[in-house]
Amino acid sequence: MIHVVGAGVAGLVAAQALLKAGRPVTLHEAAPGAGGRARALPDGTDNGTHALIGANRAALGFLDAIGARAGWVEPEPDGLPVLDLDDGSRRLVALSPLGWWRRDRRPAGVSPAAVAALAALALPGRDRTVAQAMARHPAFLRGFVDPLVIAALNTPTAEAGTRRLAQVLRRLGAPGATRLFVARNGLGPDMVEPALAAIRALGGTVVPDDRLRKLDRTNSRATALHLHSGTVALAPEDRVVLAVPPWEATRLLTHVEAPMEHAPIVNLHFARTGPGPVRFVGLLGALCQWVLVRPDGVAVTVSAGDAEAREEADSLAPRAWREIRAAAQAFALPGEWPEAPPPCRAVKERRATPRQRPGPIPAPRRRHLENLVLAGDWTWPHLPATIEAAAQSGLAAAREAA
Ligand SMILES: Cc1cc2nc3c(=O)[nH]c(=O)nc-3n(C[C@H](O)[C@H](O)[C@H](O)COP(=O)(O)OP(=O)(O)OC[C@H]3O[C@@H](n4cnc5c(N)ncnc54)[C@H](O)[C@@H]3O)c2cc1C
Repeated sequence: MIHVVGAGVAGLVAAQALLKAGRPVTLHEAAPGAGGRARALPDGTDNGTHALIGANRAALGFLDAIGARAGWVEPEPDGLPVLDLDDGSRRLVALSPLGWWRRDRRPAGVSPAAVAALAALALPGRDRTVAQAMARHPAFLRGFVDPLVIAALNTPTAEAGTRRLAQVLRRLGAPGATRLFVARNGLGPDMVEPALAAIRALGGTVVPDDRLRKLDRTNSRATALHLHSGTVALAPEDRVVLAVPPWEATRLLTHVEAPMEHAPIVNLHFARTGPGPVRFVGLLGALCQWVLVRPDGVAVTVSAGDAEAREEADSLAPRAWREIRAAAQAFALPGEWPEAPPPCRAVKERRATPRQRPGPIPAPRRRHLENLVLAGDWTWPHLPATIEAAAQSGLAAAREAA
């Protein structure tokens, strides 16, 4: 038996891959539902807007494997609508620099020197903050690099490391790499539920509310799992995939190289229903960075929102709604956009992702014990913590454990 502990993306991907390879799997999840940091709340609301790009091959491959790929739509195929609230200017921006040959798809502040400076960051070099590296190009930093870094690293440019950004930049050149996808109906119906259905259809067992409290081990092997549902003594042929967040891995195991500092993401979900396709709008000079409009609601994202994570939802909501209305007006989004904010729900994920500062990138050994391998976004040193990193780590863990 292979015990996969943690049903976030990494655990779901590992479980599905192991079952596909013919191995028996039990998936133990501490929470009542699966999905981890990419989950639907009990009322169906996403914990936060999750976007994928075409470069996320493992994540998109997983969606294909579980029959959920069609639920991920490309809201802005012609370029990302971006509204600058400081001066009211609006534009469509190609997410790939290759698209900037079109004048009407360029971000603010772009110049040959600025693009060269950004391209240089993709090459191996000194690790420093992105703000330091791009200091000579403040308009481009604000108009393109800031939003890119916040989206990819969940860390402001004044803090984010260039080595981490380089990992992202190097993946953006391939054809289709910057196509942006979001779940049409939400993370529940478009990822988590199909993943659980696929795992069960392959003969896997999923046990919710089954926290791993403690793990017994000798020097080289895990010997027992003390789960909420009871203790499992591990037979010689059993394996464990530990797909939990870093703070849980360091609690359960010793000597794990794991990130210790995390950055929050705040999402505000407005109960505004309306017609029209899914839309995705970027904001500059605003509280919120992204507006996601779906027929059943509007959500805004405040990444790296240290101050906002401490602020009351009642004071955030009217500010966010004003920004949403401005975006709706600027890009003629269909439907009603009343002045008064609709009911709003705030979801604050205080440990959304590790802070991606300059410095060594943790690279924990995948096979931590003879019969235990690690998975999770933080265990994949080749990318910042994202769905793609979680999916890649799940595939790697499945290969090791099979
Ligand atoms: C609001 C928000 C927005 C984001 N936006 C994006 C985005 O747009 N694009 C993107 O690519 N990424 C985004 N991310 C990051 C992405 O969600 C994560 O990188 C990814 O989901 C991590 O998956 P994981 O499986 O590694 O970890 P987790 O999702 O943390 O999964 C770990 C699982 O283990 C369970 N667990 C913990 N302890 C135990 C235990 N002791 N026993 C059993 N189970 C346990 C947890 O309940 C959880 O289900 C976002 C994250 C947040 C929070």
